[in-house]
Amino acid sequence: MRARRALLALALCGLMTVALAADKTLDTLQQRALQDAYAEGLVTRLINEVGPRFSGSEGYERALIWAFRSMEDAGFKNVHGEPVIQPRWVRGATRVELLTDNEPLPLSAVALGGSVGTDARGIEAEVVRVGSLEELRALKPAQLRGRIVFMDLSMRRSSDASGYGEAYPVRAHGPAEAGRRGAAAYLMRNLSTAADDAPHTGSTDYEDAPRIPALALSNLAADRLAAVVKAGGASVAIHLDARELGAVNSAYVVGELPGKSDEIVLLGAHLDSWDITPGAEDDGAGVAIVTAALRQLVKLGKKPRRTIRVVLYANEEFGLSGAKAYAEAHAGELGRHVLAMEADLGSGRVLKLMDGLGENNAALRAAAFAVVAPLGVAPGEATRHGGSDIAPLTAAGVPLLGPRQDASRYFDVHHSANDTLDHLDRAGLRQNVAVYASLAWLVADWPQPIARLPAE
Ligand SMILES: [Zn+2]
Repeated sequence: MRARRALLALALCGLMTVALAADKTLDTLQQRALQDAYAEGLVTRLINEVGPRFSGSEGYERALIWAFRSMEDAGFKNVHGEPVIQPRWVRGATRVELLTDNEPLPLSAVALGGSVGTDARGIEAEVVRVGSLEELRALKPAQLRGRIVFMDLSMRRSSDASGYGEAYPVRAHGPAEAGRRGAAAYLMRNLSTAADDAPHTGSTDYEDAPRIPALALSNLAADRLAAVVKAGGASVAIHLDARELGAVNSAYVVGELPGKSDEIVLLGAHLDSWDITPGAEDDGAGVAIVTAALRQLVKLGKKPRRTIRVVLYANEEFGLSGAKAYAEAHAGELGRHVLAMEADLGSGRVLKLMDGLGENNAALRAAAFAVVAPLGVAPGEATRHGGSDIAPLTAAGVPLLGPRQDASRYFDVHHSANDTLDHLDRAGLRQNVAVYASLAWLVADWPQPIARLPAE
């Protein structure tokens, strides 16, 4: 009996030693990350050396070379590209004008990604203003035929991106609903929280509807148009040269810190940006966060129990080509992915940690919450969604942790020409690196098996 108690004490003591050693490593990681300007430097180089890097463009090819070099400089192993086919679409010249009795008044606008263009004569038509998808769906084709739908919905500012979630359907489904009802074009107030004249783009889905030109107006342009419509009606002219080109063979980039086993902890961000923006926040910040996090782990000079893999995905913005290609190429080893985390909400501080570990990883969950508490990160709710690039993995049952960043200012610049380096939250970027690095190490070096979730 006494021997058993002594053994138990020894075992506890051993566990304690392991726990204390882990604590020290995690604390060291966090302190180093908080003092390290590497992530800021990395995103600065991405913007200055590469700039816009849209799917299928030369800019994206430059970004690929940049990513290889950055991963090798950071000491990653097995740095390589994996093939992906990307769509290629160009917006061409864009002109939207409010017709007046005198000179037409230009309105700042950008095509939504994938929009069809107009013919050379353009479209000139009366505007029908609606405030929601429900209002649009309530209109009869007779009320819309040949007219331009003006979707005038203002996006709400929120720290958790819920304002974007609410407004997003008008961009995703509005053009299809308008096309189905015979409208000539779709013009929406952009999904932006900034009262400025820089329009924000984004993807849309024509579904099975007739394809009509679809564009977003800056908030100031939308204010101007709304005022004229309310004062008695408005007509607008649209000229758009947008067109699709053939698909392009390309790649996404993978780099690792090899562990003692072939189980994988995956950190993801997307290398591509929209064509009209340097993409400092979206997703230069995410690229910098996950790359800087793995670099901190490499610098520890230790081999974790599991491999930690950074994936810089291709074409998140315009069809998730990289996410789909990765899930297909790695279908046989999805069972060995024990965690996925994605960084794609800019550089704002992590406010809370969303929990996608499921019912059977209670000890790991408690440890994860405890690890990030000193960084000011609160325990978050359960979720199965940690980002669109890792969605195929998490849907298949890969556990996830979701650092939820402060997105209060993110949608001032998101998908617009204003997404530049001067909007980065530099202290926030460092805190993110500390969060991602310490969580990745905690999970990669976790001594117990990590349970999968049921597939969705
Ligand atoms: Zn993004």
